Amino acid sequence: MKIEFHGADQEVTGSCHLVECGGKRILVDCGLFQGGRELEEDNAEDFGFDPAGIDFLLLTHAHLDHCGRMPLLVKRGFRGEIVTTAASRELARLVMLDAAYLQEEEAARHARHAARRAHAEAKPPLYVTLDALNTLDYFGRTATYDIPLQLAPGIAATFVDAGHILGSASVLLDLSEGNARRRVLFSGDLGNAGRPLLRNPMPPRQVDAVVMETTYGDRLHKPLGPSVEEFYGAIEQAFGRGGNVIIPTFALERAQELLFFLRAAVESGRLPRTMQVFLDSPMAISATQIFERHQECFNTQTPELFRDHRDPFALPGLHYVRETAESMALNRVTGGAVIMAGSGMCTGGRIRHHLRYNLGRSQSAVLFVGFAGRGTLARRIIDGARTVSLFGEEIAVHASIHTINGFSAHADQAELRAWHAQTAAGRTFLVHGEREAMLKFAAQLGSAQVDMPVRNQRFEL
Ligand code: ZN
Repeated sequence: MKIEFHGADQEVTGSCHLVECGGKRILVDCGLFQGGRELEEDNAEDFGFDPAGIDFLLLTHAHLDHCGRMPLLVKRGFRGEIVTTAASRELARLVMLDAAYLQEEEAARHARHAARRAHAEAKPPLYVTLDALNTLDYFGRTATYDIPLQLAPGIAATFVDAGHILGSASVLLDLSEGNARRRVLFSGDLGNAGRPLLRNPMPPRQVDAVVMETTYGDRLHKPLGPSVEEFYGAIEQAFGRGGNVIIPTFALERAQELLFFLRAAVESGRLPRTMQVFLDSPMAISATQIFERHQECFNTQTPELFRDHRDPFALPGLHYVRETAESMALNRVTGGAVIMAGSGMCTGGRIRHHLRYNLGRSQSAVLFVGFAGRGTLARRIIDGARTVSLFGEEIAVHASIHTINGFSAHADQAELRAWHAQTAAGRTFLVHGEREAMLKFAAQLGSAQVDMPVRNQRFEL
């Protein structure tokens, strides 16, 4: 039995791990490398294995850095079976189609650029919409939490709730080859306990080896309660000044959580019933509809709301904005609106238009509620830029800027440690984290055998 690492190795994105057992090859995740041109160029490189030789692909969850290279895998010859939960299957479809569309757009932009300049080269898309659609044909059995799936003789996979986003799972592999037996657990991304919609991550079982994420291996989170209060307070203040509230948001989970908190505030009278909320993101709207179809993924209180015919994501002044013309009409709204749009890091998408019309207005507020990578427009504004450039215009920043840190979808250091301790694993592979975070986390694990693989590294299990 062997394990190989092909992404998210001493880095956060591009998750892709390969297990070999009894002549079968099992991939856990096939995510996109994200952040910075150099890293993004890695996506087009060789996978480090033959896609045609993979028998099973087990998908832990539908974030792009876990499923975003699946269409490329299929394009390069994968013909095996993709196994994931019902919710992850629907969300992955949405995420892959969106990624393919963005790849096509970017390739078209490069082509236009290349046509104008003698030395510029056209850059083909990594994959196109058809590849994403073809990938859907390889989704096979659906995983149900806690029920083992026999993939092949001597190979069983159990998906266990990871509490990270809708449908997310850790994957437990029970492997046997000859007389050898191994139990290997892949954490996937682990959630933060006490979230509004999802259950807490399931306590893990005891295993021989664990492959675990370390995104926040060096940090503790602020508690959620004060962050929600800060969120409500920022909206109240902006409305008091007669301005708008602009929220750059991620389409999966964060957008739905914010709708959940806004609904709760209107119900309790904390925020006015007349508040107008615009979800200006076709992808977030589609994701919200998928959430409504998968109540099996929620904690106990959320399905109760559905049973009482109180949609947890609906509030009186909520508008779903799909059409571009409607989105543009929001540019004329000067006050009393909460506008949620993507992208979360303001690197593209409709949010840039809303920033253009609101950043310069001292009445308005911009709320950052998620991770902002280095070099992104979101990070520049958070770091206090006095002016930013948008659509070729220099825009002075007069709006009030809030950074609210307690909404993380990832376990923090203390939660990761507690989870790891319960696995009682003799062997630990740390992935999905920056090297510094991993080193700090590894130091806390004491004497257990800990590896921090580099890309394409291979180990005997
Ligand atoms: Zn994730």
